[in-house]
Amino acid sequence: MNYIIHCILAIIVCTSCGGPRRSNQEQPVVRTAVKQSPPRSKIIVIDAGHGGEDPGARRKEPPRLIEKNLTLYTANCAAVRLKSLGYRVIMTRTGDYTVPLFDRVRFADRGHGDIFVSIHYNSCPKSQVQGIEVYFFKNRLSDKRQIASELLGKCLLDNVVRATKSPARGVRHGNFCVIRETKMPAVLVECGYITSPQEAVRLSKKRYLQRVALGIASGIDSYFRSI
Ligand SMILES: [Zn+2]
Repeated sequence: MNYIIHCILAIIVCTSCGGPRRSNQEQPVVRTAVKQSPPRSKIIVIDAGHGGEDPGARRKEPPRLIEKNLTLYTANCAAVRLKSLGYRVIMTRTGDYTVPLFDRVRFADRGHGDIFVSIHYNSCPKSQVQGIEVYFFKNRLSDKRQIASELLGKCLLDNVVRATKSPARGVRHGNFCVIRETKMPAVLVECGYITSPQEAVRLSKKRYLQRVALGIASGIDSYFRSI
């Protein structure tokens, strides 16, 4: 297997540095190899919101939902998908235990993450509110990290909405610790409202959460392919 990968890489390097010209018939094969190769071994930090003593939002009426469980399941599914696409993934938590917010930030920085994606589910006193929104931290400098975070947010929103058919509620400014204090491009995705009776029914199904996770992974992949 390694031998095959080396051969593919050799073809890509050879072509990109102006090696021997190939016939038109051969070119599609090379393009396919580029598309399927691991996207430059980027490190993705996936942050499953809440956990342990911090349950996050809770829905007490049926279907009963606890945010920390939804975030962990979604994060695990997204990690599996990202790894299958060739990314390196590190997770701020992999089970039901408490992780303080600043520990999550330190973990991401020490792990040299290229991007940070925090996964959450939302609640609202108005039960008709439903849909997906993504937050990034906006400072006055409009620096590189902010611009990249906004682009990442747009990629995530587009892809999660496409995967779930849930309404898009926009890419917004948010002053949350994990997206403010981290050093790499960072977003927080609110993947649905557990207070909406219609959305809660969808969120109670693993298959739907898997679609959310696929949307997150596709969004990350489209971000790295667009920069
Ligand atoms: Zn939350």
